[in-house]
Amino acid sequence: LRPVHVIGGGLAGTEAAWALANAGVPVALHEMRPVRATDVHQTDRLAELVCSNSFRSDDAEANAVGLLHAEMRRAGSLVMRCADANQVPAGGALAVDREGFAEAVTAAIEAHPLISLERGEIDGLPPEDWDSVIVATGPLTSPALAEAIRTLSGEDSLAFFDAIAPIVHFDSIDLGTAWFQSRYDKVGPGGTGKDYLNCPMSREVYEAFVAALVAGDKTEFKAFEGTPYFDGCLPIEVMAERGPETLRHGPMKPMGLTNAHEPTVKPYAVVQLRQDNALGTLYNMVGFQTKLKYAEQVRIFRTIPGLENAEFARLGGLHRNTFLNSPVLLDTALRLKAAPRLRFAGQITGCEGYVESAAIGLLAGRFAAAERLGLAVAPPPPTTAFGAILGHITGGHLVDETEADGPRPRSFQPMNVNFGLFPPVEVPKTEGKRLRGPEKSSARKRALSARALQDVDAWLGANPIGPIGALPAPERLAG
Ligand code: FAD
Repeated sequence: LRPVHVIGGGLAGTEAAWALANAGVPVALHEMRPVRATDVHQTDRLAELVCSNSFRSDDAEANAVGLLHAEMRRAGSLVMRCADANQVPAGGALAVDREGFAEAVTAAIEAHPLISLERGEIDGLPPEDWDSVIVATGPLTSPALAEAIRTLSGEDSLAFFDAIAPIVHFDSIDLGTAWFQSRYDKVGPGGTGKDYLNCPMSREVYEAFVAALVAGDKTEFKAFEGTPYFDGCLPIEVMAERGPETLRHGPMKPMGLTNAHEPTVKPYAVVQLRQDNALGTLYNMVGFQTKLKYAEQVRIFRTIPGLENAEFARLGGLHRNTFLNSPVLLDTALRLKAAPRLRFAGQITGCEGYVESAAIGLLAGRFAAAERLGLAVAPPPPTTAFGAILGHITGGHLVDETEADGPRPRSFQPMNVNFGLFPPVEVPKTEGKRLRGPEKSSARKRALSARALQDVDAWLGANPIGPIGALPAPERLAG
């Protein structure tokens, strides 16, 4: 068999290489460190964790990332094996000894007879005779390769910063306060004139809100990131600092909106939320990209009328990040539609975080292995954590129907896995009594998790590649 080339030996690239090699497909894994450094990696080890040493919650019943851990373990993930073998105490989270973890991944890759590790930068499009390539070069993809990808796939295909507005679980929004209405009741093709959820503010609430934004604790940009502000995509607090009226004339303008609950009271300002996924379970806060610290976002955004009990599927952010406009550019097997020999994996596809990046690497490796072996590629069911995060990346893009200049594709932004990405599930009733509030939310998560684990087992069982066997014993992976 000819090798599949994997570019980037981070979380995604090592996982992809492992999945390929354990399916019997030879791999050439290209990692540029230490020949060429990135702005944040410190070592030449594979799968280096560049910041926190946490893989977040390990609770599969309460947290979607814990569920993703469980699914990855069932699929034979190298990253999870090495994380489990190098765990350090962290309550309900899975945290690792970062050196032991990276050492273990590096040792496993170097020892695998079907993987050859080649150190050096791939500084343009891969040679034409590499007929199957996985690009897993991450948020700090080297500039030469990034430019080659952008040239191949189009001007707007690759972003170099994300601009993330918070996303709220729909069922945590108070519809006794918020109401559905598009500005001026505008009906776009496919729209209803009620495409936005609106949260009204009185003058007093607005002024306190603006003051809280200005005073709130913010995260600084790292030196290597520069300051990527450009008008049209300013953090909400930077707009607030420009003057107390700026937001009221920008994303919080009240024009063209009538409060359905109090039609005679004109709102002084309005926060708009727009449906963020086809299921309608998630709504994003329009224009609310921010560098406020996470705890500050929760505290300040819960002062918005209608969002007092908001549960956030994602909080806002603004970082240096290289990622593709994947819903437009990639097919469901993570191949670039314009050049299907190139497959993408990891954070460059628009997932966020160590675990999600590794999970997408695992899927890309399995897809490439199936293709090389002439087997059918079966995507994971959308009810699984694998399917949920893959669906965010490749699930097609939503279109804004109500924009003044006509319909246009919604901007795609990275996301962590979260339960809002899963299709709804029937919550079992306990002893005839209907659950409410946090109890109901926990029961819903448990039901989503149970369904996902059942479906992932069925998917792995029916898949010609199946769970990856023949793994080294965990003690051999300990650092
Ligand atoms: P990476 O792990 O970055 O791996 C990509 C690899 O490709 C690197 O080893 C790089 O050297 C190599 N490479 C790049 N270009 C080339 C090329 N042209 N040729 C050959 N090799 C190349 N996530 C969290 O979950 N928690 C955090 O606390 C966290 N903090 C972060 C802090 C910073 C400053 C940054 C930038 C990211 C952070 N992330 C964090 C995100 C996290 O880094 C990614 O989610 C994860 O590492 C992505 O995995 P990946 O395999 O896609 O990319």
